[in-house]
Amino acid sequence: MDYFHRIGALRRKLTRAGLSGLVVTNSPDLRYLCGFTGSNAALAVTRRTARLFTDSRFTIQAAEEVQAAQVQIVSGSPTVMAVEWLAAQPGVDFAGFDPAVTTVAELARWKDALPARLRRNFLAALPAPFVEPLRMVKDKDELALMIEAALLGCKLFEHILGFIRSGLREIDVAAELEHEARLGGAEGMSFETIVASGVRSAMPHALATTTRLPRRGFLTLDFGVILKGYCSDMTRTVYLGKPKRKEWDTYQTVLEAQEAGVAAVAAGVTCGEVDEAARGVLRREGLAEAFTHSTGHGVGLEIHESPRVGTGQATKLQSGMVVTIEPGIYLAGQYGIRIEDMVVVTPTGGQVLTPAPKALIEL
Ligand code: ZN
Ligand code: ZN
Repeated sequence: MDYFHRIGALRRKLTRAGLSGLVVTNSPDLRYLCGFTGSNAALAVTRRTARLFTDSRFTIQAAEEVQAAQVQIVSGSPTVMAVEWLAAQPGVDFAGFDPAVTTVAELARWKDALPARLRRNFLAALPAPFVEPLRMVKDKDELALMIEAALLGCKLFEHILGFIRSGLREIDVAAELEHEARLGGAEGMSFETIVASGVRSAMPHALATTTRLPRRGFLTLDFGVILKGYCSDMTRTVYLGKPKRKEWDTYQTVLEAQEAGVAAVAAGVTCGEVDEAARGVLRREGLAEAFTHSTGHGVGLEIHESPRVGTGQATKLQSGMVVTIEPGIYLAGQYGIRIEDMVVVTPTGGQVLTPAPKALIEL
């Protein structure tokens, strides 16, 4: 990972924004900028230098991991120390921070630590996340890790197909999947595994419960692994037993919408246009109302990150961005269907990172 390049890009952005200092506390941002994977840390960045503050539990880890920043082990609060250090740097008149990840209590502690004359104006809440947009376009090293994470996801799906049978509980399926993920090298799951069977599949975010898989009906699996810091995310909906004609047709429509979304992915296209490509197919079939969420989201060090692939989103896709395409339909009291792939934007279009089968599988 080229952390020097990343910190360099951040410094240029600071200069462009007219900022002389920045305090970064969001852990995916810290990992992205300097490689540090521990908790309880803050990175203070000026136009000239960067310094990571953390506590003594991480002395060895910080020495091993951190690049492109100096490390200072502190006994008090690392975020307070970062703010105090910034205030003492020549030429730093005020420090930006991300209000979305800063609590009111933390801000009060920062202010208390500043000399009285700086309390009112030194800390500046930034109007938008400052580091996250830099993470949207993945570099070569990141893409290699994301491909690896996505392929592990596909392997887990293949494995779980051989495990699923009616009568098992949803959590049995989740447990098997997560156990295999660990054996496959995952550091963890990128979110709580969704196993939604029968009528429960009509809830887009149904976590696995003790409900038993029915003899007949849809089963939605939405899961992801974290591998070397990077998240995977995929959804497949399979059928237990033999689908009715109408169910089969509806599945084909969702699949068509999903493939239209994937096909729309290209550098220069807006996220709103990609959303519309998928949504338009469902609308044509009278299923617009049943599609209750966005078409997709960026994924990387976090499971949900920029850009958002939703109605009217003006962000243009660029080569190296990784987004999910996951249209779904949800019919309360009946069933739900969702299909999700991770797609990387390349100069020639979208490339699917999760090549697990999408034709309706009957189990
Ligand atoms: Zn998902
Ligand atoms: Zn997703």
